[in-house]
Amino acid sequence: MQSPERIGRYRLERPLGSGAFGTVWLAHDDVLQAPVAVKVLADNWSHRLDIRDRFLSEARLLRKADSNRVVQVYDIGELPDGRPYFVMEYADAGTLADRLATGPLPVPEALRLTALAARSAAALHEAGIVHRDIKPSNILLRTAPGGVHRVLLADLGLAKSLAQASGLTLAAGSAGYQPPEQAQPGAGLDARADVYSLGAVGYELVTGTVPGAPGRVVGPERLRPDLGDGVRRALMRALEPDRERRWPGAEVFAAELDRLSAAVSSVQPRRRLDPVRKRLNTVTLVVAAVLAGTAAAVTVTLLNRDSPAKSVRVADSTGRVSAQVPAGWGGQLRGSGWNPKALGLTSGHQPGLEVADDLSKWPDLKAAVNGVFIGLSEHGDVTARVNALAHSGCHYDGARAFTSADWHGRVRTWTDCPDGGTITETALDPADGGTQPQVYVQVRRHGSGDATEGILRSLRVT
Ligand code: ATP
Ligand code: MG
Repeated sequence: MQSPERIGRYRLERPLGSGAFGTVWLAHDDVLQAPVAVKVLADNWSHRLDIRDRFLSEARLLRKADSNRVVQVYDIGELPDGRPYFVMEYADAGTLADRLATGPLPVPEALRLTALAARSAAALHEAGIVHRDIKPSNILLRTAPGGVHRVLLADLGLAKSLAQASGLTLAAGSAGYQPPEQAQPGAGLDARADVYSLGAVGYELVTGTVPGAPGRVVGPERLRPDLGDGVRRALMRALEPDRERRWPGAEVFAAELDRLSAAVSSVQPRRRLDPVRKRLNTVTLVVAAVLAGTAAAVTVTLLNRDSPAKSVRVADSTGRVSAQVPAGWGGQLRGSGWNPKALGLTSGHQPGLEVADDLSKWPDLKAAVNGVFIGLSEHGDVTARVNALAHSGCHYDGARAFTSADWHGRVRTWTDCPDGGTITETALDPADGGTQPQVYVQVRRHGSGDATEGILRSLRVT
């Protein structure tokens, strides 16, 4: 598909980014003479009426929130080829995910931004809306008069509800920000689900690391030892698996973060004047850097380089699942697990990992990326679910059997995908005749050579 030059009356300038279900463009509104952002549903989803409906209903809900702390939606429309789009306020200063690209933020700044995001969430809660997908890429920054940044929440669980409709949530990439109740069907979500995600965002801004699975979050002070106890407690209270023990709402959490931010800022200048403290701080920082590396390895585990040029063994954060992947693919790892509901199986949190040369591209099935997703499932029939998967826009090459000492299963292959690459989808059963656990493996490759066989042969599950 060729990139369009115009969408409705909006002149496209450049893509701003892609998510699981579409691409966001920077465009110009020639009538209003202002920049806007236009989100277009990817064409491989636009033929699905249920997904189109959700895409548009989320845009309408965003509009309903009608707050200057939430991204404004100006217009909704449809391209001649049927793809729906919506036009929104352009966040000229990027997202919190962009801010994280250079590592953790100064603590007062991290707390201040998290507090602003929490106030945005509180505005939604007042309108009776739970966001359900608060994460750094959905928290936008816009320059306000005077050069300060406004924080705007975007997306309103868009990716999540679309993913549920498509049966392919593993692409949504929100693990680590999601409270446990969100993985339980029928649990009933309230504002405290967003408080959990806000806690995860704050944790990531101060540590540079996405928190592990609910209930197994490594204390943020282990990743950043100079962190005050008040900050640690505030973040861990937001990340309580039991929502009764969390902050009761986003507004109170915001107030506490603002209080802590002011307290930390007022302490720091005094430290700078004190030469003894200054020396101590330098030592603390060195220790922090070393510890940050060690603790980050809990979630980002490169076990060993068996052959430096060829492959690298990666493991999930529980250490139960590991495999060898081509070294060039091992650049980025997310090891915090997955929800087998992505495949239509019973909902829950299971060990799993996603590793790719560029994880930010992984959610977009049309992006050129090399990587693998491996998810363990202790219930249900993974094979039946994998047999039902289809990749429109690719050529289906058929299935082959796979057998190793530990596993047997079926590898299904699609080639000539929109990015020119190949996707394989594999379901594995234990070779000893048992039915559980089963493993789901998705491999995406751009260019030649099939790495699936090697990855499956190296797979270890304990
Ligand atoms: P997911 O699919 O899980 O939501 P995502 O949030 O990264 O992931 P999109 O919502 O499709 O995906 O957005 C893609 C990118 O476009 C964002 O990461 C952000 O960088 C950019 N973006 C989105 N909306 C805007 C906006 N209104 N103004 C400026 N940039 C935006
Ligand atoms: Mg988004």
